[in-house]
Amino acid sequence: MQILHGTAIAEEIRREIAENIAQLKAGRAITPCLAALLVGDDPASRVYINNKEKACAQVGIESRIVRLPDTTATAELLQQISQLNADTSVHGILVQLPLPKSCDTQQILDAIEPQKDVDAFHPHNVGLLSQGRPRFLPCTPHGIQQLLVRNGIQTAGRHVVIVGRSDIVGKPMGLMMVQKADGADATITIVHSRTKNLADLTRQADILIVAIGMAKFITASMVKPGAVVVDVGINRLPDGTLCGDVDFDAVKEIAGAISPVPGGVGPLTVTMLLQNTFVAAKSTVQSVS
Ligand code: NAP
Repeated sequence: MQILHGTAIAEEIRREIAENIAQLKAGRAITPCLAALLVGDDPASRVYINNKEKACAQVGIESRIVRLPDTTATAELLQQISQLNADTSVHGILVQLPLPKSCDTQQILDAIEPQKDVDAFHPHNVGLLSQGRPRFLPCTPHGIQQLLVRNGIQTAGRHVVIVGRSDIVGKPMGLMMVQKADGADATITIVHSRTKNLADLTRQADILIVAIGMAKFITASMVKPGAVVVDVGINRLPDGTLCGDVDFDAVKEIAGAISPVPGGVGPLTVTMLLQNTFVAAKSTVQSVS
C-alpha cells in the first residue's frame, strides 16, 4: 500500500516554479505578483491568506493583500477588482472565500479579468477547460492530477469516481479527468448527495476522489480492494484534530494507495496557485512580444 504524500511533491513543484520565476526575472525583468482580497476577519481565511503569502515569498512571487472590513459592499469590491484588473504590475487576482453574506460572490468573481483569474473560476476559464484548452487549471484538481502523475499512477482507461460536484473540486476534476488532450483519458462518474446507491458506485472506482466535507464518510466497505483513494476533505474533529472525508485507518488496509489528511492534497492546492500566477505573468510577456 502506497501513501500519497503531498508535502514532498509540493516542495518539488515549488522548486521548479522558483527556477522558472528566476529565469523570467532575469530574462524579462518581470516579478510575478498575486493580489488577494480578504474581506472580514474570518480566522480560517486569515490563515489561508497568510499561507498563500508565505508560499509566494518562497518561490519569488510578490504578494499584495487588500484587507477590507466585513461591511464592505459589493460595489466597493467591484471597484477594487477593477483597479487590480487595470494594474499591469498585478498578474493574478484572488478573492478569499467565503465572502460575507451581504456580498454578491458570483458577481465579484465574474468581475476578475480572465487573464488574471488564477483560481480559474471565471466562466471564460471554465469554458476553456471544458473544451480541453485551459488557460489555467483549477488549483485543487490540478494538485490532485500532479499527486497521481508524480506517484506514477495512470488514469487512462481507468474508472475515476468523484464524490462531490462542487464548482471548485468535483466538477472541474471530472472535466480534467475526461480530457483527451492532456492524456487523462479516464472514464468518469460524479456522485453527490442525491445519488442513489452511492456505495455501489464508489466500489467500482479504480481511482476514488472524495470532496464532500464530511469526516470519515468513506468507509472500507465502500472501496474496491487495491483502489487509489484521494481524500480532498478537510474536517475538524471535536478534539481539534484534522481529518479527511475518508476513514483513513480502515481504508488504508484495503486501498492500493491513499492520500493522508493533512499532508495530502492540501499543500498541492496552494502550489498550483503559484504555478498559475507564474503562467499569468509569463503570458503577459508572450502577449507583448
Ligand atoms: P462543497 O462546495 O460544500 O460541495 C460538497 C459536495 O459534496 C456537494 O456536491 C454535495 O452534494 C456533496 N455531498 C455532501 N454530502 C454528501 C453525501 N452525504 N453524499 C454524497 N455527496 C455529498 O465542498 P467543496 O468546496 O468541494 O469542498 C469539499 C471538501 O474539500 C471540504 O472539506 C473542503 O474543506 C475540502 N477542500 C479541500 C481543499 C484542499 O486543498 N485540500 C480544497 C478545496 C476543498 P450536493 O451538490 O448534492 O449538495
